[in-house]
Amino acid sequence: MALFSKKDKNIRITPNRSLRQTVQREVPEVPDELFAKCPACKHTIYQKDLGLAKICPACSYNFRISAQERLALTVDEGTFEELFIGLETSNPLNFPQYEEKLQEARQKTGLDEAVVTGLAKVKGEKVALAIMDARFIMASMGTVVGEKITRLFELATEQGLPVVIFTASGGARMQEGIMSLMQMAKISAAVKRHSQAGLFYLTVLTDPTTGGVTASFAMEGDIILAEPQALVGFAGRRVIETTVRETLPDDFQKAEFLLEHGFVDAIVPRMALRDKIAYLVAFHGGSQ
Ligand SMILES: [Zn+2]
Repeated sequence: MALFSKKDKNIRITPNRSLRQTVQREVPEVPDELFAKCPACKHTIYQKDLGLAKICPACSYNFRISAQERLALTVDEGTFEELFIGLETSNPLNFPQYEEKLQEARQKTGLDEAVVTGLAKVKGEKVALAIMDARFIMASMGTVVGEKITRLFELATEQGLPVVIFTASGGARMQEGIMSLMQMAKISAAVKRHSQAGLFYLTVLTDPTTGGVTASFAMEGDIILAEPQALVGFAGRRVIETTVRETLPDDFQKAEFLLEHGFVDAIVPRMALRDKIAYLVAFHGGSQ
């Protein structure tokens, strides 16, 4: 009898265990620092195999990278001088838990806001540089993001520098409402003054560049580059499909589709970007 009861005990425990294991398996299971799953081909890749540029070895998908990683890939070592840090939003709408959300994003990313701005050299070419980071509240554009980019353009205009921006954004920051939307016009005016001074502005669209950022400075570059397969658009696919009542092609809003339709000048693989930026900046007269 004792033998049977032991067996029963085992049987009762086992299903519980396997259920727990199944549940665990459905949640993203592997530690971030060890493995990554490619969103494009779904392969699980050993992080080390992604390399510094974070490119899927199976399908060459360009993983999203942090502003810090982008800096390391782009600028000459030791040349980056960060500017306009320490600006803070006043939470103009008193949006609940906004301060907490910002604090959390700061801790998670090690950045003070969704864009990093400063001066740097790229293969010897001096540029005013901005890099947006999608990990920071989806790199949404609030007053601080708008202010940092505007100041960067003003400084570049004053000092005769070309501007290079890596864009990434979920759009305007809803927690700041209309104040976010104003940033589009504010930055665009600064871009215009920079352009009137005869200076060069280059944008690099990275995954994902959407909403108010696409509708303003992302598409205002003299030359617009994009990373392979980057999602670039204004409204999302579902919103458009339900509005126009049509099914959109699979590659709709991908960088390749935009290139074909004349919205992007070139798609440049991540590892070739640094050379391309330096070449384009020098070609257009560099800093003046
Ligand atoms: Zn892949």
